[in-house]
Amino acid sequence: MEQNAIHASLAAYIDRLAPELTMLSDDLFDHPEIGYQEFYARDILTKYLRDDCFEVETPYAGLDTAFRAVWRGGEGGPNVGLLCEYDALPMGHGCAHHLQGPSCIGAALALKDVLAGVPCTVEVVGTPAEEIEDGGKTRMLTGGAFRHHDVALMMHGGNSCTTDVKSMALLEYRVTYRGVAAHVAIAPEKGCSALEALMLVSSGMAYLRGHALDDTRMSMIIEEGGTTVNAVVERAVAHIELRSYSRAYLDLLAERMKKILDGAALMTETTYDIVTIGEMQSKTPVLTLNEMLMRNAERIGARQIEPPRKKTGATDFAVVMNMVPGSCIRTAFVPSGTSSHSQAYLDAGKSADAHRALCEAAKILAMTSADLICEPENLHAVKEDFLHARERAKTNWDD
Ligand SMILES: [Zn+2]
Ligand SMILES: [Zn+2]
Repeated sequence: MEQNAIHASLAAYIDRLAPELTMLSDDLFDHPEIGYQEFYARDILTKYLRDDCFEVETPYAGLDTAFRAVWRGGEGGPNVGLLCEYDALPMGHGCAHHLQGPSCIGAALALKDVLAGVPCTVEVVGTPAEEIEDGGKTRMLTGGAFRHHDVALMMHGGNSCTTDVKSMALLEYRVTYRGVAAHVAIAPEKGCSALEALMLVSSGMAYLRGHALDDTRMSMIIEEGGTTVNAVVERAVAHIELRSYSRAYLDLLAERMKKILDGAALMTETTYDIVTIGEMQSKTPVLTLNEMLMRNAERIGARQIEPPRKKTGATDFAVVMNMVPGSCIRTAFVPSGTSSHSQAYLDAGKSADAHRALCEAAKILAMTSADLICEPENLHAVKEDFLHARERAKTNWDD
């Protein structure tokens, strides 16, 4: 079949399936579950895929609420992973993750219908707990997921139809200083203040900001800073977060941070220990893959098309994007500029716009997967681009 005909068949299939996909996403919206508790979501998504003859494995890659559902068109050929999140926030589905599973299912079922017999494997992969500090995808990677995909694709509901060219890498620490308690009036000379150590850390960070790259973010909160004002503080605890668009640069910054922590301990005669409590990679953007997604977005007349996002937060999808070529297509269901994790996202969760964004993304994912499966030169170009981008990211901080 010629590529235009394939695209048309995929889109028509998804249009026919739309009522079921939107019912599924409304059901997920009405049953929000936070990270690692997404049993309802896992069950309804895997049931749908199993009923459509996908081979389902759950728990998967070491996580109870993760799954994968596999369909093979014919022996060999590329393996495309369609990754979906379904965790909610404590407020409910304020990040629109309820759209992802149904969208990926729509794409996968359409590919199964249209590409029967074509050598390829399509996997829908359920990835729990994106919103939690140690995101599910990082754990799943350790559990053996993702490495075998030739390409990993995602969708995310948003305020425009676009892709990302960056995401922030992140390091999070918990630092505990220990000093010596003493009465502040009677024997202050005997005390060493753990709180003062943290104050010096805060000053050190403020000065470091003046020498860090513009896109760097450093923040600290004090979780424990003493309980009584008449005693030298024996124990103080801080939560520190460092972010940069370059993971390589973040490692350098972490070394300087360590010197600040050492210096504060030295000045106050305290000791400290440091525990890493979160770590995220920056994305390796594959521009050729982004362009393929956006060409298909234009082809289907997706709404609110905008240039790639340059400012983004951190996501556990980045860890996958450092392993295999990947990209996420965002489709619009709220007005331009609307922030995620907001009441506006919740209010629009079951709207006609949300349903349409889900179907737009399903079509874009299906068409792009078909472009990669049916035209080997596309997959080759994406892989080359990925390897170059990953190499460049090791040394080039300003990209
Ligand atoms: Zn979110
Ligand atoms: Zn999200």
